Amino acid sequence: MEAQTQSKRILFFPLPLQGHINPMLQLANILHSRGFNVTIIHTTFNSPDPSHFPHFNFESISDGLSAAEASTKDVIALLSLLNVKCAAPFQECLARLLSGEEPVACLISDAVLHFTSEVARSFELPRLVLRTGGVSSFLAFAAFPVLQQKGYLLNQDLRLEELVPELPPLRVKDLPVIKTSNPQTLYQLVEGMVKETKASSGLIWNSFEELEKPALATLMQDFPIPIFPVGPFHKYFPASSSSLIPHDQTCISWLDKQESNSVIYVSFGSIAAISDIEFLEIAWGLADSKHPFLWVIRPGLIRGSDWIESLPDGYLEMLDGRGHIVKWAPQQEVLAHPAVGAFWTHNGWNSTLESICEGVPMICMPCFTDQMVNARYVTHVWKIGLQLENGLERTRIKIDIKRVMVEKEGKEMKERAEHLKEKVNKCLQQGGSSNKSLESLVCYILSC
Ligand code: UDP
Repeated sequence: MEAQTQSKRILFFPLPLQGHINPMLQLANILHSRGFNVTIIHTTFNSPDPSHFPHFNFESISDGLSAAEASTKDVIALLSLLNVKCAAPFQECLARLLSGEEPVACLISDAVLHFTSEVARSFELPRLVLRTGGVSSFLAFAAFPVLQQKGYLLNQDLRLEELVPELPPLRVKDLPVIKTSNPQTLYQLVEGMVKETKASSGLIWNSFEELEKPALATLMQDFPIPIFPVGPFHKYFPASSSSLIPHDQTCISWLDKQESNSVIYVSFGSIAAISDIEFLEIAWGLADSKHPFLWVIRPGLIRGSDWIESLPDGYLEMLDGRGHIVKWAPQQEVLAHPAVGAFWTHNGWNSTLESICEGVPMICMPCFTDQMVNARYVTHVWKIGLQLENGLERTRIKIDIKRVMVEKEGKEMKERAEHLKEKVNKCLQQGGSSNKSLESLVCYILSC
């Protein structure tokens, strides 16, 4: 039996990055469908479009970021700044929202916004955390103190291939680090995230039990708080779009003209960037593969270029319709299209999960942080993809595309991916693991 809600309100506070906004707003939709009223607190930076969510209230807070701060390429510096600059405006916002008549059950905050913990505590407001990445990569973040102590995080270059015994099957090069102006900023951010997640009233995952069972078991031991793996969120029902960039719908009409399982879908998400040399190797690798491809080239993807001006003259004409390039795709629809045979991805958690949900094998090209962990799980735990390693080179790319699209190992990856897709469908059904976890979450929030 479904738990009944009596119009209690939940406050949601997403981290203002695409890969965090999407799952938070999907979760808000899910809980709204269970009878809760929803308020989305958001920064002025990267604010979602309220017109797509007429059933939610939106509260904008000033993040105080200068234009230079908001456009920095140093994501870690940006996240650290948000944790400082949003504190006072968030406090004022909560004071206002909590002074109304309507009961507020709890706050659901992105795990990275760890400063919300202290503010919520000052109002005695229960704070649940949504971690938008996978459980396995979170455990790698939680292991940072040990990894630091054992010297795995700094000066990695000489031991990249070494296995990390504390975190099988990760190698040193799979650890979730990122180039940043000051590594201490990364360590502090991770420390804040892990500590305030542990201190939270509950932890929600856009993942499902059958996918990350061992990691969830470890997590439950190390984090003695209520834990709710209720994902994959985007499969509950078709949700409104929280995309910050408009989707190019020509993708779908182009895919409609392609043969089943023939297309390589290529996208590296909303943040990752590549050099112009890498860009050209990818372009030629795709062209030489002879497979049709749909390629998302987001403005800003290629360092130093506005868009695709560095493509060789005549490249698109030469392909004669075999390649379709867009600035942003309706990714979930694309992955669900029968023409798509593989996803060349940077392995952001949402992209990884969206691919798993549609049974699409992956060509993994992780760039930083949890993407490396996710790629390792795709290739060595779930065995539904291969990783492009040791630099991008067109001949190698062509060979790897063939391995996934044509060869026996690719067919086996596809079979395993289809098997995982079935597990997704089961976990969401009545009595399935995510469905039960959602029931517990609803009851738990009602008891807050
Ligand atoms: N996405 C999209 N269109 C695109 C590329 C990505 O709608 O052309 C969406 C994708 O479906 C996913 C999110 O953007 O939900 C990207 O999140 P992810 O965690 O994969 O990567 P990030 O952008 O955080 O690196």
